[in-house]
Amino acid sequence: LDDRDGVIWLDGAFVPWREARLHVLSHGLHYGGSVFEGERVYDGRVFALSEHSARLVASARHMGYALPWTAAELDAVTREVVAAADLTDGYVRPVAWRGGDTLRLVAPDSRVHLAVAAWPWPRIFTEGPRGIRLRTSRWRRPAPDTAPIRAKAAALYAIGALAGQEAEEAGFDDALLLDHRGRLAEATGANLFLVIDGELHTPPPECVLDGITRRTVIGLAGGLGLPVVERHLAPAELDRATEVFLTGTAYEVQPVTGVDGRSFPLGEVGAALTEAYARAVRAGGADRSGYPAPAGAG
Ligand code: PMP
Repeated sequence: LDDRDGVIWLDGAFVPWREARLHVLSHGLHYGGSVFEGERVYDGRVFALSEHSARLVASARHMGYALPWTAAELDAVTREVVAAADLTDGYVRPVAWRGGDTLRLVAPDSRVHLAVAAWPWPRIFTEGPRGIRLRTSRWRRPAPDTAPIRAKAAALYAIGALAGQEAEEAGFDDALLLDHRGRLAEATGANLFLVIDGELHTPPPECVLDGITRRTVIGLAGGLGLPVVERHLAPAELDRATEVFLTGTAYEVQPVTGVDGRSFPLGEVGAALTEAYARAVRAGGADRSGYPAPAGAG
């Protein structure tokens, strides 16, 4: 990924893709405090851009620093990056980190850097309604008083990367993480929904990332007349689920056809939401007024 043509926006200017480097003594590299976003470009526009920019600003604040850019400035920069990459369909990765002016752990005055890169990107799993298989991980999502779990911070992805690698080594597509109390939480990069008695059940965004796709899908479910229940779910409730799916910027609405030894069909609810989501993102997500506000927003 680092060896290709193109440009990356770094600290206020475009630099050649291969030269978008950071110093080995960067605070963010050593102590895990960098924050990032994952955004998707559909038809040349970033879906839910302002929500992603706002979450990046909030993530930095949760990690104890302020981004020297406002969410509105991030929106504008992101649009420039997408235009410079001439993208129709792709992925955008903004990332912010404390720099290398000091390796003191407590570094409130260290310089904060920001880079935004964008590149063409297909679905991470295959096109079409193929289900994926999850394996419950031995690694858990930490408690809200153990880690700043509202932040989309690199530190938390150390757990997900390990869980995902172990799942793949065992022949699964992704890991399912439980939370610190052993309740169903999320996959490595997506939120979890169970269909039980025709209703959607999903964990509240307490120990899981407050996904923008999750909120979008909750809004779309309302439009389809599907009740949504946000509550804590025990792993045994998977036995009652008639469908399981994941939601995320990269995953979109991704049906799950297996969790450990259990099997689930590719069902109607997942198919209806996959289709509704595909329409919503292509329409540019113009009307988001009916969607729930972010948890702990601001
Ligand atoms: N949970 C985790 C751990 C994630 O990394 C992501 C991807 N950002 C999600 C959930 C889904 O969030 P979103 O819908 O905002 O992409």
